[in-house]
Amino acid sequence: MSWRFVPAEGLYPDELRYGQFRPEWVEANNALTIAITQELPRVDLVTGIAWGAPYPRAIAWATKFGAALVLVAPDGTPLDHEQRRELRLLIRNALATPGMSDKPFPAAIQAFGYSERQAKTIAVTEESLANCYGSLCGAIDVGMKVKRWLVSNDPGICLGCTANHAQSWVPIDQPFASGAMVPADHVGCRCDAVHGLKPR
Ligand SMILES: [Zn+2]
Repeated sequence: MSWRFVPAEGLYPDELRYGQFRPEWVEANNALTIAITQELPRVDLVTGIAWGAPYPRAIAWATKFGAALVLVAPDGTPLDHEQRRELRLLIRNALATPGMSDKPFPAAIQAFGYSERQAKTIAVTEESLANCYGSLCGAIDVGMKVKRWLVSNDPGICLGCTANHAQSWVPIDQPFASGAMVPADHVGCRCDAVHGLKPR
């Protein structure tokens, strides 16, 4: 598990920020989610919504924002427009593949040319961002008004996120104390968020 503690290594900024909340995120995510849901294979009702089952809102987020925060290409030079577009598609398709959660996703990133460690860092970071921001858009879309930051139970990973957790419920369209809208706050962040109609 030691890779979870590696620094961003220049792959990402220290803080993972898409900027201020924009209402058009929700509109775009919702439209894409409807289309993606129709394309995805039906979830097997016997096995249920298994760990690693595709999450349409996360796929929608990655379709628009996947790799948006990645700074460098495998050779260490700044990631250019075409590389970002390719990496975004790769991330989006990995998220849309059932059971991608562990090995297939990092392997796909590694095939792009990144080292094994870099690939794991990118896969975990992109999955977290897509899941949390996709969920945020979904929550706003169905009328949720507040959100709460949940720190990971893994010890020592997210010391910087405790201030966000300590805030309890905050308005859903406002940033937490750290400036993040939802996790991930930083590379290696294992936090999550929940949403609600009102503080509870
Ligand atoms: Zn965290």
